[in-house]
Amino acid sequence: MVKQTIQIYARVKPLARRQQAGIYSVGEDEKSASSLEIIVPRDLADGFVNNKRESYKFKFQKIFDQEAKQDAVFESIAKPVAECALAGYNGTIFAYGQTGSGKTFTITGGAERYSDRGIIPRTLSYIFQQLEKDRSKVYTTHVSYLEIYNECGYDLLDPRHEASRLEDLPKVTIMEDPDQNIHLKNLSLQQASNEEEALNLLFLGDTNRMIAETPMNQASTRSHCIFTIHISSKEPGSATIRRSKLHLVDLAGSERVAKTGVGGQLLTEAKYINLSLHYLEQVIIALAEKHRSHIPYRNSMMTSVLRDSLGGNCMTTMIATLSLDKRNIDESISTCRFAQRVALIKNEAVLNEEIDPRLMIIQLKKVIQELKDELAMVTGEQRTEDLTQEELLQLDEIIKTFLEDPDPESTLDVGADMRKIKHCFNYIKQLINRTKIPERSLLSPDITGDEDTNTPEKKEELKKLRDLLHQ
Ligand code: ADP
Ligand code: MG
Repeated sequence: MVKQTIQIYARVKPLARRQQAGIYSVGEDEKSASSLEIIVPRDLADGFVNNKRESYKFKFQKIFDQEAKQDAVFESIAKPVAECALAGYNGTIFAYGQTGSGKTFTITGGAERYSDRGIIPRTLSYIFQQLEKDRSKVYTTHVSYLEIYNECGYDLLDPRHEASRLEDLPKVTIMEDPDQNIHLKNLSLQQASNEEEALNLLFLGDTNRMIAETPMNQASTRSHCIFTIHISSKEPGSATIRRSKLHLVDLAGSERVAKTGVGGQLLTEAKYINLSLHYLEQVIIALAEKHRSHIPYRNSMMTSVLRDSLGGNCMTTMIATLSLDKRNIDESISTCRFAQRVALIKNEAVLNEEIDPRLMIIQLKKVIQELKDELAMVTGEQRTEDLTQEELLQLDEIIKTFLEDPDPESTLDVGADMRKIKHCFNYIKQLINRTKIPERSLLSPDITGDEDTNTPEKKEELKKLRDLLHQ
């Protein structure tokens, strides 16, 4: 088991004009942490933020400033999580920030240059490279891609659909089993045996995601997308399977409703994101509090799906994406504040190992056959399940002789054969049962009026014997 708090990172999106500099500074004050200081310009200080404070300081594991490239982000953030997933632990990386701050760029990447590939394609590439290298295990890899919009889940990887609207995609619903495990009904798990297949699936999902987005619903800014890599591995000949899930999550824009402030459709949508991110925040607050037994995961689909990633069996990492110009100071501060709360959450990742009963049976059958062969070699005779008629008669003779022998020193020797030993026990048991009570009263439960069986003790004994016989 690995206990770890959620790791938090910040990434600042490149700004068009560098003159915005001076709004923040990055400090490397410790080896394992950096700090981001956001400086509120004077002309804003008496506005909506806080008219007393001029700067805010936040700690992160590491801060990726404007120049940071995708490969560096992958190396520091995603590679360690991918490694854990390969070893059998669950992992989650989620990007949180306002619309336009670089969540999709960080998680999926930009389409223009190959070097702009984001965490998902790089992680797939890395995982398949590692799987190729490791010949000691048999790996199976599946991917799934879920979009949650207005509390509804949609399967982005359904191959039968050429969706033109999000609503055309298969609807995914949540089911909870008696052990409170979450299952996603209708979400397809597509097998990907190599990097190319996995990338094609990612492309299919992203295409569905884009096509389904119209200016009216702007789904990408208001929906959560969860790309999951499912890895299972086992050593050849072993019945133990390790399973892990790696969620790569692009959350909805975290901006407040007030900013969206339009009537009709847009407002409902804005309310919804706000609501589901609000529920995420509530879960995080509840988790950060000590002694809270109830965590409100069930309030939204997204928190239900990510339940293990938050305070559960998972190694989780958050990337706070920031678009740090003057207009966005309040949103950036609120993103950083959210991250600081997230950093308090402790997760406990365990190795997800299970035994496959089918494989276990195959394995046990093999062991039995080997033992039988070995036995045949040692005794020089092939053994079947049952004793032959001849052997049975011989045995009965030996038992009878033993029972009738008055010599207290006499022994019953049938050799080292479990079948014969069992037969002796059965024989003697039958004999005892027969002499103790008449057979007919044992077999017919209706006869209770018998004088013999009328006393409570007798009844009790009779019951016990009946049970024994039934057994
Ligand atoms: P979000 O998903 O948070 O709404 P996007 O990832 O779509 O934001 O980013 C908005 C725009 O900024 C996109 O055009 C994207 O290509 C660009 N962008 C974001 N982050 C970076 C970055 N680190 N480097 C270059 N361009 C970026
Ligand atoms: Mg986006």
